[in-house]
Amino acid sequence: MSIAELKSLLGSGRISEDEDIIKTYSDDWTGRYRGSARAVISPQSTDEVAEILNWCSTNRVGVVPQGGNTGMVGGSTPLNGELIISLRKMKNVNFSDTNDNQIVAEAGATLLEIQNLALERSMIYGVDFAARDSATIGGTIATNAGGLNVLRYGTTRRQIISVEAVTGTGEIIGNLNGLDKDNTGYHLPSLLCGSEGTLAIVTRAKLRLRPKPKENVSILFGLDTIQDAVNLTEACVSTSTEIIACELFFQKGVDLVREAYDLQPLWNNKNSIYLLCEFAGDLGVLDRLNENVLGEMLRTHDSILVATSDRERQRLWQYRELHTLAISNKGIPLKLDVTIPLGNLTHFLDSIATICGNINPLSIPYVFGHSADGNMHLNILQSEPNVAEMEEEILKFVVSLDGSISAEHGIGRAKAPYLHLQRNEEEIRLFREMKKAFDPKGILNPDVIFPTSR
Ligand SMILES: Cc1cc2nc3c(=O)[nH]c(=O)nc-3n(C[C@H](O)[C@H](O)[C@H](O)COP(=O)(O)OP(=O)(O)OC[C@H]3O[C@@H](n4cnc5c(N)ncnc54)[C@H](O)[C@@H]3O)c2cc1C
Repeated sequence: MSIAELKSLLGSGRISEDEDIIKTYSDDWTGRYRGSARAVISPQSTDEVAEILNWCSTNRVGVVPQGGNTGMVGGSTPLNGELIISLRKMKNVNFSDTNDNQIVAEAGATLLEIQNLALERSMIYGVDFAARDSATIGGTIATNAGGLNVLRYGTTRRQIISVEAVTGTGEIIGNLNGLDKDNTGYHLPSLLCGSEGTLAIVTRAKLRLRPKPKENVSILFGLDTIQDAVNLTEACVSTSTEIIACELFFQKGVDLVREAYDLQPLWNNKNSIYLLCEFAGDLGVLDRLNENVLGEMLRTHDSILVATSDRERQRLWQYRELHTLAISNKGIPLKLDVTIPLGNLTHFLDSIATICGNINPLSIPYVFGHSADGNMHLNILQSEPNVAEMEEEILKFVVSLDGSISAEHGIGRAKAPYLHLQRNEEEIRLFREMKKAFDPKGILNPDVIFPTSR
């Protein structure tokens, strides 16, 4: 491969072969994947992406599309010396000319940039999570990112109205017509959402905005049992139309966050389980909560903190949002991101410590997650040298409980060996055929989603 040819096609300034720069793109956020790449290419338009992919396809050069590189499953790491195509320089965001409730975003715009623009019109973007200042719209589409507000607004798939992308042969596909109703054959936004850069590189998208709630209230409950937390989650979802998020976490995680960030204890009496609920709506959210069946609990429950100001709400949220960082400060964990049907969540969570302990008594599991979706993040420190055994055991357990082995992070490289636990042979064969149609030379993210040895 002669990078010089690509350089002359694109002009100067788009390709970096500087090892120090490459390094900042080739290791993943979790620290688990350390890759190597010949170069980082930073296109600045859809046409440039098309030109690059056309050249790579002709020359059979593998590429790894990359946004903010905050993914959790090694999908944006070049493990076989592929070229990294970073979309970070394509970051224009504008309101749509044809619909006040839509934004047109280039793939490299971050979630935070989209959220900030939306606020200018008192609107919000439905997807939000702790990596908002780095995760890009292209990456969130590629992973069908979920996050904190799925309960109210759905995953990224529900936010994308139209998408533009470039296939593995350099063809530009899709449109930005912004039409909710457009049943003209297969729905490209749905198909590309969650495709993890294996079918096409997303270059632009038209996104749905929602009215900004007038008031938010965060309520942190301290609880004694997991079943209490599940019951309360179900009560919140079934009695309040204003519930927006329900986050479950444990004392062990809170202790770690407090130690890492020097935070005050939440209250004196220790509860082992925390449920952080966010409600949002018109003015008077708290009054309405007091009037519904949660009111009794708000008045009588011992361990409860209610926050209505932005400052107080952020204070409560940091105990939840800092979990990922606090755990990573301690080491490189085995990361699992699973969905469990709510009815099986207690059994699942009760069993995790035993499963991990039986395989490696030194392992330290931390669990937290989005309880209304049954989406739990498991971060297991000190799982070596039994990482693969532990991973397989837990994922098989998840499947036995009718759960999903990947809730919102995707399959990437990390979960590819386990795809067969969830998808049957015929499904995987059809997936491969679809990939072939979009990317006949197999240059796009070659080892992602599909197990290489199967
Ligand atoms: C602190 C923290 C909290 C997080 N919380 C959540 C959470 O609550 N919910 C959640 O869903 N995720 C969460 N994540 C994971 C991560 O932020 C998401 O997966 C996010 O969608 C990745 O976006 P990115 O731009 O960083 O993509 P990258 O990491 O760069 O890439 C992710 C995948 O998408 C592909 N890709 C990237 N850009 C494109 C493109 N333009 N076209 C085609 N393919 C592309 C890559 O090849 C790779 O396979 C969290 C991460 C961190 C660090």
